[in-house]
Amino acid sequence: MIILVKIRLKLKWLFHDIMEWVGIPVKLNRRKGEVQVLCFHGICSNNQAFINGRFILEKQCEALLKALDVEYNIISLEDFIKGHQKPNKLNILLTFDDGYLNNKTLLLPILEKYQIPASFFVTTKNSNPKWTDLFDIIKNEKISFLKLQNSFPSLNGFSLNEIKKWLLVQDDKVIMEITELLKELAQPFLVKYKVFWELLDKNDLVELKKHPLISIANHSVNHLSFTNLNEDEINLELIDSVRFLDELETPYSKVFAYPFGHYNEKLIQLLESKNIEIQFSADGSNKKRKGITDRLVVNPFISLRNQLKAIDNGQY
Ligand SMILES: [Zn+2]
Repeated sequence: MIILVKIRLKLKWLFHDIMEWVGIPVKLNRRKGEVQVLCFHGICSNNQAFINGRFILEKQCEALLKALDVEYNIISLEDFIKGHQKPNKLNILLTFDDGYLNNKTLLLPILEKYQIPASFFVTTKNSNPKWTDLFDIIKNEKISFLKLQNSFPSLNGFSLNEIKKWLLVQDDKVIMEITELLKELAQPFLVKYKVFWELLDKNDLVELKKHPLISIANHSVNHLSFTNLNEDEINLELIDSVRFLDELETPYSKVFAYPFGHYNEKLIQLLESKNIEIQFSADGSNKKRKGITDRLVVNPFISLRNQLKAIDNGQY
């Protein structure tokens, strides 16, 4: 079934690309007055082919933001919260997850060039590369992960993707231990892949907080899957991340994006009871559900026309 959906999507994208090649203009802005929230992660420089779908090339990002600025009304997080939207256009809120340093070094100059506002959902403890980024480096460089399997014999016979899935549901202690092992394995390549894992530090956040185009919001402390944590663990994550962001004096410490986009009914209610004001998911399903706002995750593997069509529809 999933394969059929993928084939249908690819045919649709091919059809739209053919329309572009023969010069048929794209029709947009069919959802006037609505808001579409977009989810990005990292930006990498044009000469660095991305190593995962969470990144987008600088030139791709600029082309998309420029087109969005022409077609739609790009709003800030403050406008979104206050309901300040244009009725005659689709309104777009840009969000960037995980707090990559490239959001400051590569993205910010583009935002400044077009005077476009954006929101950064940051994790508040940024001492290590995230384990997900280390996996991508190891995969891309085809580094042997035998050492990992020797330390955790239950992982023998697992592929790298299977280990990734397994790690998602492990506790904090195991995740820390594996992150250290992954870091050791990836060590010779960390400099080469800096743009794919370096995170904003406290000084960067202090600087960005003062920037008129940037809003800083909450993506937890450690980027753990919240659906796998108990109530006490979630409490700790919230208390620490909200405190950090309050100290930074951002007004959006209680605007929260789920790490990995993971959520369930229980979590929604728990976060509501902890006074989290807005919860952002990233299903791309555009389904309406009280208490959460869904986001469309930008796809770096499709053409600009297809990306714009998807944004206009609210789904791929
Ligand atoms: Zn994230």
